[in-house]
Amino acid sequence: GPQTQISDESLGELRMIVRGDVLTREDPGYAAVRPAYNAMHPGRPALVVRPTGAADVIVAINFARANGLVVAVRGGGHSVAGLSSVDGGLLIDLARMNGVVVDPEARTVRVQGGALIGDVDHETQAFGLVAPSGIVSDTGVAGLTLGGGEGWLRRKHGLAIDNLLSAQVVCADGELRTASADTNPDLFWALRGGGGNFGVVTSFTFRCHPVGPIVAFAGVFHPVEDAENVYRKFREWAATVPEEISAMIGCTTLPASENTPPEIHNRPFIVTGALYSGDSLEGQKIIQPLREIGTPLADISGPLPFAAVQAAFDEFFRRGTLRSYWKSTFVEELTDPILDIIMDKARSRPSDRVFVIAFQMGGAINRVGAGETAYSERSANWMISIDGNWADEADDDRVISWVRDAWAEVHAHGTGTQYLNFTGVEGEGVTAGVESAFGQNLVRLAEIKAKYDPQNLFRLNNNIVPAAG
Ligand code: FAD
Repeated sequence: GPQTQISDESLGELRMIVRGDVLTREDPGYAAVRPAYNAMHPGRPALVVRPTGAADVIVAINFARANGLVVAVRGGGHSVAGLSSVDGGLLIDLARMNGVVVDPEARTVRVQGGALIGDVDHETQAFGLVAPSGIVSDTGVAGLTLGGGEGWLRRKHGLAIDNLLSAQVVCADGELRTASADTNPDLFWALRGGGGNFGVVTSFTFRCHPVGPIVAFAGVFHPVEDAENVYRKFREWAATVPEEISAMIGCTTLPASENTPPEIHNRPFIVTGALYSGDSLEGQKIIQPLREIGTPLADISGPLPFAAVQAAFDEFFRRGTLRSYWKSTFVEELTDPILDIIMDKARSRPSDRVFVIAFQMGGAINRVGAGETAYSERSANWMISIDGNWADEADDDRVISWVRDAWAEVHAHGTGTQYLNFTGVEGEGVTAGVESAFGQNLVRLAEIKAKYDPQNLFRLNNNIVPAAG
């Protein structure tokens, strides 16, 4: 295609200037590039640059602009929507930029743009600290943060963006900018939820909180046949807990694995999960009623190292193995009609690995105003996510349309917002998702986009069209 017309001369120059890797399809290293999470969207870039630092990122962006290349930016490669790569064009894969430096006294951590959640937790936990992120250790910190970032500490300490102190970004003009409350505050506002629209983030600085190393965790598995009882009692319990608890309930089926209890293999189950961020003994008391619902198939709850909790769901989601199409929506409360829909969807999942989840929100998340960050959903107490995961390409249409229909039923009861990080954009207008995610904030986002990326160089994302000058 037109995107592969790169002259040998300019490629030769690029190889001389870049300190990291420059890989074409002919280079042996090309096949070894870490795959994307979503097997439905592997991508086949004409050129991959794997920078070792901001210097290489600047070169790559200037090269893309000069050669008219479509640019994909990959942090951790976990994009559900298939935005981790590109067919033809240039992939800037930040995998080599996974450095993490903790300042234990200031309780901050500086994280490079290609770090995974597990990389960050490993360093921060050495000091009994955590920077709030997500719940699967293999997810990239960059994409997760740029879309909001919801993990086990969300109700106590907020989203990842609520703990972001500053970022360094290489914008479309090739300039490295700092974004913080004091420096380029418009850019800082936009980065907190606006996705990859504004440039390549080379580093993030987060506020950390003392958590762990041992925390109270609940992970209880029930037969799906007991759905009525489990969902209702879970809801009752969740309504009473303090914001130290962030909880979830989900339904799926997993194959046999040595990392999960044999009692749950190859049969549909409901899992209730919760973390208490505070004193572990106190947390175990609060979690106890959750463990006494019905007759569980298995119960992995207990005092656990925080790092183990962060890996507890890794087995559900293995990179590059499954095709994925997810959709999410926020609801104020788990009302009876909503609970009925969720239970119905849990029972009628079209494929084993489809995961129907309700995440408890609220707490610290909702103490931030809807206009304070680009991420705008600050009132809902629950997020419902319909995670379509399946293995066989022949099932694409069937599972995707089931997910859409299931989502539409819940969304009709929702706040109107969806979480862009949990959204598949395959075959849909991307802008529709963007409008429903940003609401009132979209106008300001489009203006900031026009300021920092007027030509829309960064468009393989939940794209914000630059405001017309
Ligand atoms: P990538 O595919 O690398 O990037 C995603 C998007 O961000 C792309 O548009 C990309 O261009 C852009 N981007 C990535 N890095 C940069 C950068 N450095 N600078 C600028 N733009 C960049 N979300 C949660 O909030 N909480 C969770 O617990 C959670 N769990 C998940 C579990 C799984 C298994 C999966 C697949 C996703 C999960 N997510 C979760 C959603 C996740 O936050 C998004 O998929 C996110 O986009 C992944 O970021 P990434 O860097 O790994 O992805």
